[in-house]
Amino acid sequence: MADSTQHLSSHNIRSTETRVAVLDLFLENKQALSKQDIESNLPGQDRITLYRTLKTFEDKGLIHKVFNSSNKLKYALCSESCGHEEHNDQHIHFECTVCKQTTCIEEVPLPKIELPKDYLVQKLELTVSGLCNNCK
Ligand SMILES: [Zn+2]
Ligand SMILES: [Zn+2]
Ligand SMILES: [Zn+2]
Repeated sequence: MADSTQHLSSHNIRSTETRVAVLDLFLENKQALSKQDIESNLPGQDRITLYRTLKTFEDKGLIHKVFNSSNKLKYALCSESCGHEEHNDQHIHFECTVCKQTTCIEEVPLPKIELPKDYLVQKLELTVSGLCNNCK
């Protein structure tokens, strides 16, 4: 609990019951979480408040969006280097084809993409699919 409160205040987010509960959930899970995952893990929480919390966390650099192979939106915890409206999540994501869990692979940086000079890269996402350690 104390950890989450501190984590929130270091990102200039006031602690509320919902915010602490959502952050705890991300800290306990190694995988990316969808809105449905979050809702089912936090029964009784108001849905709109949950969505607002996710938006706040994303704006403040606590979590980042992850899209899986079927383009389903999930969220994953950011590294320490992310901040207010600034994300540095330059890593690949791994999606298990069996359990469908999506994980941040922070050790593997995104490859550098060289585009023809008329183009400018603004965003690069890379999801690798395969078998996770539990499903191998
Ligand atoms: Zn981030
Ligand atoms: Zn798996
Ligand atoms: Zn990630």
